[in-house]
Amino acid sequence: MSASDRNLRAVNLPTEWSPASWRGYPALQMPTYPDAAALEGVLQEMHALPPLVTSWEILALQKQVAEAQDGKRFLLQGGDCAEVFEGCTPEVISNRLKVLLQMSLVLVHGLRLPVVRVGRFAGQYAKPRSADMETRDGVTLPSYRGDIINGPDFTEDARVPDPRRMVKAHARSAMTMNFIRSLIDGGFADLHHPEYWNLSWVGHSPLADEYQRMVDGVGDAVRFMETLSGSEVHNLNRVDFYTSHEALLLPYEESQTRQVPRQWGWFNLSTHFPWIGMRTAQLDGAHIEYFRGIRNPIGLKVGPSATPEQLLRVIDVLNPNDEPGRLTLIHRMGAAQVAEKLPALLDAVKRDGRRVLWVCDPMHGNTESTSNGYKTRRFRNIRSELEAAFDLHAAAGTRLGGVHLELTGEDVTECLGGARELTESDLERAYRSTVDPRLNYEQALEIAMLIVRKQAQ
Ligand code: PEP
Ligand code: MN
Repeated sequence: MSASDRNLRAVNLPTEWSPASWRGYPALQMPTYPDAAALEGVLQEMHALPPLVTSWEILALQKQVAEAQDGKRFLLQGGDCAEVFEGCTPEVISNRLKVLLQMSLVLVHGLRLPVVRVGRFAGQYAKPRSADMETRDGVTLPSYRGDIINGPDFTEDARVPDPRRMVKAHARSAMTMNFIRSLIDGGFADLHHPEYWNLSWVGHSPLADEYQRMVDGVGDAVRFMETLSGSEVHNLNRVDFYTSHEALLLPYEESQTRQVPRQWGWFNLSTHFPWIGMRTAQLDGAHIEYFRGIRNPIGLKVGPSATPEQLLRVIDVLNPNDEPGRLTLIHRMGAAQVAEKLPALLDAVKRDGRRVLWVCDPMHGNTESTSNGYKTRRFRNIRSELEAAFDLHAAAGTRLGGVHLELTGEDVTECLGGARELTESDLERAYRSTVDPRLNYEQALEIAMLIVRKQAQ
């Protein structure tokens, strides 16, 4: 970007925007805090805390997203549906990192492209809900909205929104990020040592042999390059990992929105990559108002009810200057609807020449309930939506440049099917999610292998 470009952008700051201007718009999915003074006190405290990420990192990620838009990278975004305070443990954090590192090795090896790694972690604590209230056995209480807002227990006390939870969520996010950064800086992600990423509880996985062949292939390539160059290949011992969360709880996000020295504009410094959920993507709503003014690269979930006209108008508001790397569209249509709904959106964005990164979330359009009362997703529907998405992009002349998944490194049984063919009765064994069902390690690795196979076609 030339200096004159930069000045032009600075002059084109969103009009009459401030970190608090969202307050003048209808804000969906917000809790009602019972004590306004307590909320105000917490927000002031939050405002003074150091940031979780820096503008340098945010702009480095934006550059990587821009490269993905140019077909030079593939984006892997994954993690829990909702982080929980109890899940801020070394095992949960490192197991999730191991799965993401194994998946990214599969993708790098198979796609021959660098991967942009973005975790749904270090801040993914707020959840949109389809209903404000929940009824069990004749008792009605406010819905659980994520650990940053209230508690999951079905008691009156737990369900009262408590602003102090924001301070706790911020601290847990900082601890999570600190541990991940330390692991990576210490060499945990070193490509010379993929055995660091093995999960102790994985017995002989049906996918183990295929994965091991890829590890060996990468190992051979690394040794070959090192033999050629006569020294260690640099940069294989560390990777970039970025954080993301749904920026749903706007008072929290506002408190983390800052100006930084020698940069114009405002950054959300609680995460590198905030996204707008499907339920809060209204053009005239508070979330779009908030997001239009921050400089981070951002994601927008796009569901089956979005029309091409609406989508183009939202793009105008969120990325008026068509800035590279700024906007990622994450479509989540469901296997049953993707072929019907996606092509018109792809055509409209392409026809209008808008610069976006297209990413497929094959999870959220495929949620269902089983007869024994579990919220689940069938692996074959997840797979079918993802495969269809690749085909539809190919037919439209656009590129599917990434995938957005809910997954965990824990040995859970929350999604049906996959290599071990989990059934409805398996769900009872290890169902732990407080909200949406996640892919377990094997199912997640299978998705990575499937992407590689699909791209090779
Ligand atoms: C989510 O990503 O957890 C979520 C709620 O997604 P969506 O907004 O696409 O429904
Ligand atoms: Mn979810």
